[in-house]
Amino acid sequence: MKILPDVALTYDDVLLVPQFSDIPSRRKLSTQTRLTPAITLQIPIVSANMDTVTEAEMAIAMARHGGIGIIHRFMPIEEQVAQVERVKRAESFVVEEPITLTTRHTVGDARRMMEETGTGGILILDENGRLVGIVTSRDMLFEQDDRRPLTEIMSRNLITAPPGTTLQEAAAILHRHRIEKLPLVDEQGALVGLITLKDILKITEFPKATKDAKGRLAVGAAVGVKERELKRVEALLEAGADCIVVDIAHGDSQLEIEMIRAIRRHFPQAQIIGGNVATAEATQRLIDAGADAVKVGVGPGSICITRLVAGAGVPQLSAVMECAAVARPQGIPIIADGGIRTSGDIVKALAAGASTVMIGSLLAGTDESPGLMMTRKGHRYKVSRGMASLQANIARKIREGEGWITQEEIEDYVSEGVEAAVPYRGPVREVLTQLVGGLQSGMSYCGAHSVDELYEKAVFVRITPAGWKESQSHDVEVL
Ligand code: IMP
Repeated sequence: MKILPDVALTYDDVLLVPQFSDIPSRRKLSTQTRLTPAITLQIPIVSANMDTVTEAEMAIAMARHGGIGIIHRFMPIEEQVAQVERVKRAESFVVEEPITLTTRHTVGDARRMMEETGTGGILILDENGRLVGIVTSRDMLFEQDDRRPLTEIMSRNLITAPPGTTLQEAAAILHRHRIEKLPLVDEQGALVGLITLKDILKITEFPKATKDAKGRLAVGAAVGVKERELKRVEALLEAGADCIVVDIAHGDSQLEIEMIRAIRRHFPQAQIIGGNVATAEATQRLIDAGADAVKVGVGPGSICITRLVAGAGVPQLSAVMECAAVARPQGIPIIADGGIRTSGDIVKALAAGASTVMIGSLLAGTDESPGLMMTRKGHRYKVSRGMASLQANIARKIREGEGWITQEEIEDYVSEGVEAAVPYRGPVREVLTQLVGGLQSGMSYCGAHSVDELYEKAVFVRITPAGWKESQSHDVEVL
């Protein structure tokens, strides 16, 4: 037995001492940071790989606003791949595989295709694959006869552009001709892509969006540590996942290390995030195995009862400080995962050395999370549940097994998480605006012009319970 000499601290044990600031406008401060050495984010926030937090809709919203979402792994490989593909299709400058029909198809075919894919315009190809026309939902509006050939109603005078057309050029062409779709056609007349006004507008609407090299939204995906999960990794990377999170509660384990090594060996280009760990030694072990970033947090999560059940964990601020002290000099970013309740916690996590924070429950209450909305005593809530909770385990067993679970299995399961109701918080955008605004204020109080400078300049002061009490609103009735 050994007892460490230092007391470990968490967010509520400290405050940041205000420093001289020469920042004229804190709202203009950049919050740019890195998730991994190859992935830059404009806001340091990652949505957690939990089944009540991140599926495609959340990942799309996170990436549009400059963060990133990690799609959870508690679904079959094909389903997770489809989620990644949805994010990748959500918005890109060029649609690489536009939806097409041929001159042999009918109005009925086009109507069905539009309903299935949600697209408002279908490009029509001849038998040689050459682009000959376009049919839009407007063309179909008053069309009664579903058997009518598309060749009779399609517009033939198409404005097209060559491959390689830039965003600015495309915008100018669309504007000049007052059209919404610009097919890209090569010298042989073959269709090679499509640029739509809708996508261009989205790009200008979300200037901070996290994008991959092809201009598609960035997204991460979680995998388990079993060897068979390499299949999942391969499929996810194939679908365009920008990073892989090797997800296990106790990341300082042989299983985690072997999985990271195997991914590194099979997919040398992959961006791998390892975790979760809570010590400097564990961080180094994951870096040595090949991790590009390390996720820190054992027990701080809102829905986590690991520390009660297992008696193990490290208060999160100290864990982040220890792990960052090892990782930062090697250029490996730390993700502070769990326990973030306010923007102040984010400021403290980044000041302690994390490059990003991962958030679960705070985002589970938003419109974009997968959970159902419920109403209790006139207030609206959504559900957040730990991935090691009994409820998540039952759902997983039912999904992956034979559609049912035995009483014995339920009784034998030792859960390390709970299921909880979280207040409904509206769209992700509103939550992120508050969190990022708070972070910028925190940076300004520390005189920091960047996230890196926040770490360099930060001075923490330990506080007493009385200091913490003073930090809240007090002696008033909050309205
Ligand atoms: P939150 O932001 O405080 O809700 O914490 C979210 C984090 O809690 C996740 O990213 C996971 O690291 C962790 N977590 C998720 N499910 C469980 C669980 O069942 N037990 C313990 N930790 C969990």
